[in-house]
Amino acid sequence: MVKVIVCIKQVPMASELPWDAQSGTLRRDLAEGMMNPACKHALEAALTMKHQQGGHVTAITMGPPMAEEILREAIAMGADRCLMLSDPAMAGSDTTVTSSTLARAIEIFCSDFDLILTGCHTTDSETAQVGPQLAEELDIPVVAYVDEMEINDRVIRVQRFSDNFLETLEVDLPCLLTVNTRHFTPRYIPLSGLQDAFGEVNILSVSAADLGIDPSSVGIEGSPTKILEVFTPLAEKKNIVLKGAPKKIVEELFDRFDTKISGIIKKDIKREGR
Ligand SMILES: Cc1cc2nc3c(=O)[nH]c(=O)nc-3n(C[C@H](O)[C@H](O)[C@H](O)COP(=O)(O)OP(=O)(O)OC[C@H]3O[C@@H](n4cnc5c(N)ncnc54)[C@H](O)[C@@H]3O)c2cc1C
Repeated sequence: MVKVIVCIKQVPMASELPWDAQSGTLRRDLAEGMMNPACKHALEAALTMKHQQGGHVTAITMGPPMAEEILREAIAMGADRCLMLSDPAMAGSDTTVTSSTLARAIEIFCSDFDLILTGCHTTDSETAQVGPQLAEELDIPVVAYVDEMEINDRVIRVQRFSDNFLETLEVDLPCLLTVNTRHFTPRYIPLSGLQDAFGEVNILSVSAADLGIDPSSVGIEGSPTKILEVFTPLAEKKNIVLKGAPKKIVEELFDRFDTKISGIIKKDIKREGR
């Protein structure tokens, strides 16, 4: 029996990213939302562990009320129960506050977990910080960017690629893994799943007060990360025409781009000579 928690985040559809330049946050209320792709892989991994070992899966999200959609989607895929952390006071929380709020909810509502799974990163903020920070808050081991996992008794064996090496690690449960998007392809939702998701669903709504959190310690006010400026970088291209004899052109090319060329041919052309 394995009790798995999976943390999932709603992100705006890539096609629409309304931005509030004043507060430096996304206007999620104006965008169509979807489950963050990496979170879907984490959910699939959670469901796979449940089917192999028995047990149950709890999906948790922290977000505005419309994020309930992804909890219903999680139930349609096979999650057993959900926690919805939502409170106007939590809006604009950075990764530190998001992690500590998720940790507090886990301690209060599902502290007997064996395994916490998160996506490796999101498609909107993409910091990849929440998983490792959540593990730190709960004082449990963490492995990031996991491709495969197998539970044996109270130990989980995981595989991941790191610096082009395939690593196999064993970690004692309880632990937290951030799941890569290479494996655990999310399943199609069965028709019966849709029925579950639109019926009476097991979603517990949790506010800052339910967590015993002072509203000023969450949201924009409680977040140490301050967004100073948001802008779209300008991509500039410059066309340079090299002129002269072929030998001169090649020499100039190497002078201008020796670092890039060395990287491509994997030789230090400055040191080894041309
Ligand atoms: C009312 C309200 C409004 C919010 N508005 C915004 C907003 O405008 N913009 C914004 O980016 N965030 C918003 N959040 C959510 C929160 O602030 C972000 O989730 C957080 O900063 C995560 O950063 P990230 O996307 O870089 O996560 P990463 O560290 O890249 O995420 C890695 C993994 O951590 C887990 N995770 C991350 N965030 C959450 C979450 N919220 N709930 C559950 N699991 C999570 C997922 O498994 C994810 O795959 C809001 C939250 C609330 C309550």
